[in-house]
Amino acid sequence: MRRREFLGFSVSIFAGASLCPMAISRGDTEGVTIKTLDGGVISLDGAALRELKAGMHGEFLIDGMPEYETSRHIWNAAIDRHPAVIIRCADSEDIARAVRFVKRHNALLSVRAGGHNHVGFAVCDGGVTIDLTRLAGVEVDASAKAAKAGGGTTFGVYDSATHESGLASTGPIISMVGLGGYTLGGGIGWLHRKLGLGCDNLVSAEIVTADGEIVTASAQSNPDLFWAIRGGGGNFGIVSSFKYRLAPVKDVLAGLIFYRLEDLPKVAAHVREFNAGAPDDVCVWMMMRKAPASPALPTEMHGRPVATVAVCWAGDLETGEKVVKPLRQFGQPLIDLVKVRPYPDWQKALDPAWGNGFRNQWVGHYLPELTDAAAQTMLEHVSMVSSPFTDVKLATMGGAVARVGENDTACGFRDSKYALVIQTRWKDPAESAQHLAWTQGFFDAMKPHGAGKVYVNFVADEGENRVADAYNAGAMARLRKIKAKYDPGNLFRMNQNIRPG
Ligand SMILES: Cc1cc2nc3c(=O)[nH]c(=O)nc-3n(C[C@H](O)[C@H](O)[C@H](O)COP(=O)(O)OP(=O)(O)OC[C@H]3O[C@@H](n4cnc5c(N)ncnc54)[C@H](O)[C@@H]3O)c2cc1C
Repeated sequence: MRRREFLGFSVSIFAGASLCPMAISRGDTEGVTIKTLDGGVISLDGAALRELKAGMHGEFLIDGMPEYETSRHIWNAAIDRHPAVIIRCADSEDIARAVRFVKRHNALLSVRAGGHNHVGFAVCDGGVTIDLTRLAGVEVDASAKAAKAGGGTTFGVYDSATHESGLASTGPIISMVGLGGYTLGGGIGWLHRKLGLGCDNLVSAEIVTADGEIVTASAQSNPDLFWAIRGGGGNFGIVSSFKYRLAPVKDVLAGLIFYRLEDLPKVAAHVREFNAGAPDDVCVWMMMRKAPASPALPTEMHGRPVATVAVCWAGDLETGEKVVKPLRQFGQPLIDLVKVRPYPDWQKALDPAWGNGFRNQWVGHYLPELTDAAAQTMLEHVSMVSSPFTDVKLATMGGAVARVGENDTACGFRDSKYALVIQTRWKDPAESAQHLAWTQGFFDAMKPHGAGKVYVNFVADEGENRVADAYNAGAMARLRKIKAKYDPGNLFRMNQNIRPG
């Protein structure tokens, strides 16, 4: 790990972050063919690439260069795209230069941060990918309870850094996810009921707009843009750095309580009752799947269909033992793994089941309530689950999320009580049709239990009507206006796209 001045604050530069200017490369002499936004192609010669490279701190990669192959692969192995050029930016000036290059050539553009968007928006076929993975540093100001992080940082890095000061902000339940796509889409996890959504923790962001300008978005500066990026995804520019407010969170009382899948209706009813009076410091997820072959579980449980209650208490630990007790005493659990642990340890606890190399399809619904009928439908479909790697998760919402005004950020539907995500996961491409059919059947069966609304980071490649289901009508109209102001040509379109209004 090395340190350097970055965006005016000192940050840690992590693995793979060479600081040399771009090396002489194949692109110096050979040109590339790039797809354009209007569906055409253009040929760029070595001179155009040399011009891009001049003065950059990062590098670009084209097919045949070392690291091109590893850089084009993302978390979802079903995505196998070949960008014509991958521009690995080292700072916001690099991003601005890259955006101007893309705009000048009207090139198709994708933006990659943590690379964990399941739809695969991070990479494009034949276009330009702006890769932010080198902007992966975190600077914590413990006295101000604030952290600034590069736009390509992942949560494992971020949470470890803030934890050193006994502080945290809301992050996801898997540590490899990028701050970028997560925060811009909203952001739920273990702490959202206590601290609000990930985007509610955002204080300001440095953004490169479609014109290649570097601007700040905050409550004081470009407030319309600040409103839009808190839920509106990557539609409005490329965030080179995020600044978050932090809150004291050190150790949590957290873990999984496993039940037989057939107990799901009773367990769901109990979770519903528990949540009705639960304080904000506690967050419960339900997880339904075949138990993974984890060393934390007895071997006789491996592969067995289970309904799991995942609980995280992030307040005073003595109080937490009392609050969480009714969950732990309910029914006949197969195993109870709840214990006190550092927050980053819990945040990483599920990582082993979520690595790269699998094909994935995710779909979701917000549920207004966890009814008996919804639990029954989940039981029926999880009982027929087609892949041992698939998981179905139901996050409890409410708490601090619901206390932010519906129109204070672009991320709406703050009164939703539960967020469901069906996470279908498999290895063999020959099995794709069977797993996709199971997913669609389950998704359709859950529709009557939802309200037609969805969390945008759980939307698949479902078209603009489904994207519209992630926003209330007023928010969508406002997002389209702001899009027209900041990106009238829809340069940033490889995302859950909001067309300029
Ligand atoms: C294993 C796993 C676990 C997850 N767990 C959770 C969870 O607990 N809670 C939750 O809310 N979500 C969760 N998600 C969903 C996740 O938040 C989204 O998929 C998110 O888009 C991933 O962000 P990323 O930066 O890793 O993705 P990328 O694929 O790199 O980025 C996705 C898109 O976001 C935009 N983007 C990303 N960074 C920037 C930036 N700096 N500036 C501008 N645009 C940018 C771009 O349009 C980009 O194409 C999970 C996803 C996975 C795969």
